[in-house]
Order: sequence, then C-alpha cells, then structure tokens
Amino acid sequence: MALSKKIETPTGAYEQPLGLFINNEFVKAVDGRTFETINPHNEKPIVAVQEATEKDVDIAVAAARTAFEGPWKNVTPSDRGRMLVKLADLFEENVATLAAIEALDNGKAFSIAKLDIANAAGCLRYYGGWADKIHGKVIDTDPETFNYTRHEPVGVCGQIIPWNFPLLMWAWKIGPAVATGNTVVMKTAEQTPLSALYASKLIVEAGFPPGVINVLSGFGKVAGAAISSHMDIDKIAFTGSTIVGRQILQAAAKSNLKKVTLELGGKSPNIIFNDADIENAISWVNFGIYFNHGQCCCAGSRILVEEGIYDKFLERFKARALKNKVGDPFHAETFQGPQISQIQFDKIMGYIEEGKAAGAKVEVGGERHGSEGFYIQPTIFSNVTDDMKIVKEEIFGPVCSIQKFTNEADAIKIANNTTYGLAAAVHTTNLNTAFRVSNALKAGTVWVNNYNMLSYQTPFGGFKESGIGRELGEYALDNYTQVKSVRIRLGDAMFG
Ligand code: ADP
Repeated sequence: MALSKKIETPTGAYEQPLGLFINNEFVKAVDGRTFETINPHNEKPIVAVQEATEKDVDIAVAAARTAFEGPWKNVTPSDRGRMLVKLADLFEENVATLAAIEALDNGKAFSIAKLDIANAAGCLRYYGGWADKIHGKVIDTDPETFNYTRHEPVGVCGQIIPWNFPLLMWAWKIGPAVATGNTVVMKTAEQTPLSALYASKLIVEAGFPPGVINVLSGFGKVAGAAISSHMDIDKIAFTGSTIVGRQILQAAAKSNLKKVTLELGGKSPNIIFNDADIENAISWVNFGIYFNHGQCCCAGSRILVEEGIYDKFLERFKARALKNKVGDPFHAETFQGPQISQIQFDKIMGYIEEGKAAGAKVEVGGERHGSEGFYIQPTIFSNVTDDMKIVKEEIFGPVCSIQKFTNEADAIKIANNTTYGLAAAVHTTNLNTAFRVSNALKAGTVWVNNYNMLSYQTPFGGFKESGIGRELGEYALDNYTQVKSVRIRLGDAMFG
C-alpha cells in the first residue's frame, strides 16, 4: 500500500500522507493494519491510514527516547524556539490545505477551520517565544550554601488528542512540550487522523531533528492504552472524555506513575441576568452552544436566564438559533456542519429522545437535519429539571437546555450543581454582579459578556471532574518541566 494518496477536496487536490510518522519518516505499521476515515458530510470513506498498535508505540517511544537523550538535548533553547516559530509560519503558509483537510475529515466549516489553523499557528509561535525563557531561581538559605533550581524537561511525553479540534489540540500539546525540551509521541483521534499527518511533513521542513515529534494514527483501546501504560513514557497529556480520563489515570498509576494532565468534559452554565445587553447575550449564548456543532468540551449547554427577561430572551434566542446555517462544510455561509460520526450522531439523538420522553419541551430543533450526513438541527429544550439526563450529562452536540432563575444566589446554586467545572459565563451590565458571580462559580474559566473566547496566552482547564492541570499560557509550562534543586556547600565540612 502506498504511503500517500492524492485527495480531491472542493478547494483543490493535495497529497495526503498515510503512514505513521516516526523519526521524521512516514512508515508502515508493523502489523500492516490500516483503518478508514469517514467524511461526516456524506458518510463515505475518504482514505485508509496506517494503524498503530503496541509495537508501533514501542518504536515511536524508542525514537523519542533516543532524540531526548541525544540530539534534542544539544539543541539550544533559542533554536527550539526558532523551530516552533518556523512551524507556525508553515501552518500559515499552508492554511488553505490544512483547513480543507479539517473540513473534509472533521466536518467543520472551511471558513472556521481557517481560524483553527490561525490559532494553532499562534499557539506554536507563542510557545516558540517561551523556549529561551525557561529558568529557575537562586535561593538564599545561608552564607555557606549556594542553592539554585533548574526547570528541566520531563522526558518523553505521550499525548492523546480528540477529534473536535484536530490541529488546534495538536498545537496546544506540542507547543509547550517541545518548547521546554521534551520529545513527543502523539496519538491523534481515530476519527480525524489526516490533518496531523499533513502537519507532520511541516515538522521536517521546520528543522526538528528525527524523533522529537512522532505522530501515530490509531485507536484509543490499542495505541492509546499502550501509551498510557508505557513504562518509558514520563508524562501523559490527554484531552477527551471524563470516562477515558479516569482510565488513563489508572493506567499511569498501574505502570510507572507517569505524570498526568487531563482536560475533560463539561456541562457549562451560561447565566444571563435581567440587566444584560440582551442582543449581545443572545449572540454569545448561540455561539457558546452551537459553535463547532456543540462539540466543545466547554460548550455553554445549560442556559440560565433571570425570570424578568426569560420569555423575551427565549423567543429571541429561538429566532437566532433558527438562523444558523447548517450544511456542507465547504459552503461559504455554513456555520454548523455535521457531527463527527455515526456513533456521536446516535448518542446525541438518544439524548434528544430521552429529553422528550422525560417531559422536556422542544422549543427548536429536536430532529436530524436532512437525510445524508451526520447533521442534527440546533436544539433547545425548556421545561427541564435538574435531575434530567439532558441537564446533567455532557451531550457534545448542538443541544442545550434553558432554565429560569429567581436571583443571584439561585443562579450560582444551579450553575454549580454539576460534577463538572470546566467553564461558565455571566452576562450582566453590573460590574459588581460580574465580579461576585465570577468569583462564586466553580469553573476553570469564566467568561463575562462573551463565550468560548480562548487565547493561547490564558490558561484553560477544569475544576472538579473536568480535569487536572492547566493548558495554555505560562501555566502549561509547569506540566512539562520538573524542578531540580541543587545545593552547593561553600564552607568546610559541617560535621567534622
Ligand atoms: P470521544 O468520546 O469524544 O471520542 P474519547 O475520550 O473516547 O472521546 O477519545 C479521545 C481520545 O482518547 C482519542 O484519541 C481516543 O482514541 C483516545 N482514547 C479512547 N479510549 C482510550 C483509552 N482507553 N486509552 C487511551 N486513549 C483512549
């Protein structure tokens, strides 16, 4: 089987690599297994890629270990930064191709995929800037001792990413790991392997030595499990579901106690007070739930509206949701494309049916969209109670619930009544309300009068069962460094 294939997209043709990317080369899987990736717009296979098993993980880890102990150690921090900045430039130069691959393989709108690529480039460049600014401290304890700390790389990092933002998650993970001098074995999601393989070509062009970044296509239960239980991986970073996050933590505990950071699910509240700028709030609420077809871990899926504006808000929000253009990712006006897979489609439709059966009222949507592709109508449920599954569990689709609250204390109580704690938002024109409620919400990110506005400069991660550790910003550097304390005795022997 050839290790690349010409693929046609509505914006042009390109050459798609299909191999596992190890030691800066595309190679066949040891067992020769392949799997198909599906276009969620028409449910047809796009192409088959090589499938990594435990044996390929072992080879990739050995490559990453050799690079870590040898060539990569000898690259100066400034040169590490230069390579990341070059990779960012290459992302920008290849934005049209990378975005087309995302639209084809993931189903997100091409116009929005271009923003993903711009953000991924920004993130890589940002961490390129950090590469030569990683340092420890001198700590004064007494005149006879000189103490200093070094922030050293952790080693070989396993990274497992999801399918909802394939290249953005790739950049969030690779940026801080490589900037701090680690090497990486990355497993992409089985639903969306293509863009990361194309980006792997750019790794070579950016000048990274072989083995520094290795990218494997494969399944969670095989390649993912092999990474999380590997005895020669020093750290694992995972983004995905809470259920798999638990398995990864267990695998790390049972193997070599590798360090673990997890970015997991959410059921985030979006709170609108009587005094909010209602048109603005509706735009953000709509964007908060329907952006990326509701496939965001931080999606604002529980909408809480103060009783004074509830009726007016609901009417206008319904009208706004109905205006969202659902359809072909390559159509210029599309905002919402298909869900990623048949499995996700069925899961979301299952939640919708459960909501209906439990007595919630469908205000908008509630059905599939069209007859081909994994499309679902933007859906709003009212008349919900806190014990309903659609209010408690992460749906990961274009489905939200809307509830009324009576006052600030009531809003905070409902908002925090969840096992998750990834994000939340407050819409108000009162500064005091904004601060008080932001401080009271148990969430890793709080947006005031906006939603989903992430920046690679600001940290992102979860309270409670939404995760461990923070990605992005300076905070992410802590995940990828370990502190060494060196104590030098300047005086004579102390104990004779
Ligand atoms: P989703 O349900 O949204 O697909 P998952 O948490 O299942 O999210 O998947 C996110 C990533 O985790 C994917 O790359 C997937 O292959 C991987 N994964 C799934 N199961 C496991 C597992 N048992 N061990 C390690 N990785 C896994």
